[in-house]
Amino acid sequence: MYSQITAVNQVALEGSPSNAPSLSGAACAGDTQFDWIPAAETDTVPAGMAALCNACPARSECLAWAVSWDAEGYWGGTTTAQRRGRGRDDQEPTHEGPGSPSLYRRGCRCRGCKDAQADRIRQQRARNRG
Ligand SMILES: [Zn+2]
Repeated sequence: MYSQITAVNQVALEGSPSNAPSLSGAACAGDTQFDWIPAAETDTVPAGMAALCNACPARSECLAWAVSWDAEGYWGGTTTAQRRGRGRDDQEPTHEGPGSPSLYRRGCRCRGCKDAQADRIRQQRARNRG
């Protein structure tokens, strides 16, 4: 389907807003072995792509762009569903170690803190139910 990827997720930009990101130095630039905008995405970014994203200096810009334009496909190390369900899911932690509700209250939105906060809310709801 997308066999001619020649720049940063360039094929992904077909039909996208004209202010697509200019991600100079992106790890996926020129990569032709991955389909970044598959017809059906997996639940998480496939390992080979995730490895590129994890090492990519443009990852945060890429992710911010995809979130702001609700772009389809794997961007910034996230899937479309992850971005839509969790917003800016891949923010870097502001702390060492695992996330917690108190770190979440202080503004950290890393996965660990979001999960910890979600657990806390679930527990509160369970208690309130009783
Ligand atoms: Zn955190």
